[in-house]
Amino acid sequence: MTAIVDALSAQDVFPDTAAVAKSGHLVIGGCDVVELAERYGTPLYVYDVASIRSRIAAYREAIGSRYPAKTTVFYAAKAYCAPWLLSLVAKEGLGLDVVSGGELHAASAAGFPLERVYFHGNNKSADELRAAVDRKIGRIVIDNVDEVRLLAAVAKERGARQAVLLRVGPGVDPHTHAHLTTGTVDTKFGVDIGTGAAEAAVRAIISAELSLDLRGFHAHIGSQIRELGPYALAIDRVFAFAKDMRDGHGVNVRELSPGGGYGVRYTPGDIQARPVDLIRGVSELLAKAAATYGLTPEITIEPGRSIIATSAIALYRVGSVKEIAGVRTYVAIDGGMADNLRPTAYDAVYTALLANRVADRSEGEYAIAGKYCETGDVLIQKVQLPRPRVGDLVAIPASGAYHLSMSSNYNMAPRPAVVTVSDGSARLVRRRETYDDLLAPESPE
Ligand code: PLP
Repeated sequence: MTAIVDALSAQDVFPDTAAVAKSGHLVIGGCDVVELAERYGTPLYVYDVASIRSRIAAYREAIGSRYPAKTTVFYAAKAYCAPWLLSLVAKEGLGLDVVSGGELHAASAAGFPLERVYFHGNNKSADELRAAVDRKIGRIVIDNVDEVRLLAAVAKERGARQAVLLRVGPGVDPHTHAHLTTGTVDTKFGVDIGTGAAEAAVRAIISAELSLDLRGFHAHIGSQIRELGPYALAIDRVFAFAKDMRDGHGVNVRELSPGGGYGVRYTPGDIQARPVDLIRGVSELLAKAAATYGLTPEITIEPGRSIIATSAIALYRVGSVKEIAGVRTYVAIDGGMADNLRPTAYDAVYTALLANRVADRSEGEYAIAGKYCETGDVLIQKVQLPRPRVGDLVAIPASGAYHLSMSSNYNMAPRPAVVTVSDGSARLVRRRETYDDLLAPESPE
């Protein structure tokens, strides 16, 4: 391992198996990524199976050993919903959060045990709810009072009694990007505790008791959260609310969830706490709240990003290098905002290295520009690299979450291929889209 990959691995930015071959090539999961790029083309997403498994194991241990009742780690499929990944996650024994009929369909098709699937979302349609009830999905997480009515009607129509959680808003600012904040009063998600909306929703669910079985409460306060403070407030408010609902309305609170949102590092020096440390801290907060409020419900946590973000890299080929003297050098790659929207949507910051010359000395600061027809399509504003040349391979770590799941065909771009790597072998789990794939749903006239 060279100093650079050592340093990046120590910062939890690259997959755990990142190494450098004698040739100076980056190796992930025992596979030389330069060879992968030659074999499968670029842009290419490379997921390291060992990293995914080790994060899952660490999170299960972190919560399972600290909370006094049953705990289950769920994977939030929105981070990346691919059949191979759902199947891996199912085999690891995790639960699954879905947020749409499409994600539910993917879970079914992957053979995911549906009793371990929870359905979230602020505007599930009657058809989506029917599909969930008919498939005997584990829980539907009710988001608002209109959904109580709709789901009660659907369950009645199907002759079912559906197990539900209620998504409550604890009124907590998670100190993250505004677009990633979901637990404050002013949010489209859930019913707020402080305004009384959550209690009103509980009353509505209780009055539909023949169709709905209220098992407990859920509060996901945001994503890319960097500190324990917001979780501490949210957990305390949700437990206090649960106790009030038990004492005031006789709700049998069997389950609570503080959601996901555990922040990951995208660059060395980003976020101090590692996700597993946040999960340990959250688990201790949950155990403390259980003791304080005399309630020991089962707990589910729902990490998405932190299971897969740093388990994958994106690989791109350099097509041009444009130096603007005294201003900036743009290194143009063959992907960009169509496969990674995060820099454009969230001002997300990434790091990179040249995968075919990892050991070369850094020679300056470069901007990594996407190929799409937008000035804002710049994946990295500044990164220290050896001077890039046409044909070099740029590897961007922490590319596993919210890239492909948010990807588009902007500029009629085919979506990239995806491989998984493990113990020196690579498997193509998603072929590169073709131009014909792009035209398939269209009518010629
Ligand atoms: N749970 C719910 C309800 C969510 O909406 C999300 C994402 O926004 C998550 C879990 C996963 O969040 P993250 O990927 O940040 O862990």
